[in-house]
Amino acid sequence: MAQVIANPFGSSTSNPVPAYEAFKTSLFAANRTFYSTISSTTSRELVQSFTLPIRSGRAWEIPAGHICRITTPEGPQVGDLNIWNLHNPRERFWASRTRQLHAAHVTKFDRLWSCLPYLRPLVTITGDSLAKYGYDPARGRVHDLLGTRCDPYVNQMLSGESFDYHCHSNLTRAIMPYGLTEFDVHDVLNVFQVTGLNKDDKYFMQPCPADKGDYFEFFAEIDLLCALSTCPGGDLSKWGWAKSQGGDPMLECCRPLGVEVYKITDPNLLDGWKEPEPSKYKGMHGLIMADFEKKPAEVNKEAYGSKIKFP
Ligand SMILES: [Zn+2]
Repeated sequence: MAQVIANPFGSSTSNPVPAYEAFKTSLFAANRTFYSTISSTTSRELVQSFTLPIRSGRAWEIPAGHICRITTPEGPQVGDLNIWNLHNPRERFWASRTRQLHAAHVTKFDRLWSCLPYLRPLVTITGDSLAKYGYDPARGRVHDLLGTRCDPYVNQMLSGESFDYHCHSNLTRAIMPYGLTEFDVHDVLNVFQVTGLNKDDKYFMQPCPADKGDYFEFFAEIDLLCALSTCPGGDLSKWGWAKSQGGDPMLECCRPLGVEVYKITDPNLLDGWKEPEPSKYKGMHGLIMADFEKKPAEVNKEAYGSKIKFP
């Protein structure tokens, strides 16, 4: 575990208020009492588990009201996570809005939100064994929403080399059995990944601080399809751009990830919880088509004059 810095910004730095704050009746803020109970309950039954090998991807389903835990069974490793509504892949995780609503690095009680026009929590984070990481000396934090997945296109652009096992490619292969394609892969949550912005406002990555047995756990708010990639950069202690020739030092720091899905066996624990509904906004983005529908004759006459006869 890296050093925890109490106040990495120093005493003279101003700290503006966040741009987004929750109204009492909004879905924004998770009910901490409810999710603390979900987090700590032993009334849970393991219904699915698998180990994701290095440099690979896999998709799996999580029924609403279940818990999913991503683990580091052999030590530090970064994982790139995508999430969709199982029944409608157009509704998918929206990393940038989640970053605005909560923080650039997420932890327990933060929610991962879906894109427009849905905008509802897909999951609520219920467990994070790295929550005490805090800030490292470079102001890095863990569970990254600043960045996105590595991909073969940026690898080709930066290094001139071709490499087929970046997270974007791993996720693409993972979702093919569900009829989804490369165009469905979206900006990820980088689980177990430490990142930040340096003094020049540039994105940096630090080695993954996870130990064997660390975990990141979340509660599925609706039926979900998830996909996870074991990043080819492994624990990011030796990251670089992949080369098709010569040695690959990153391979030495690649480890598998574990995935476990639990059913909550005490139904009383879910009392009062229901699947969040999509946004209630039913406007037409300012379109005034309704006028034509209400008074077609008058509106058309006004628009086109008396040259055309309308009923
Ligand atoms: Zn990656």
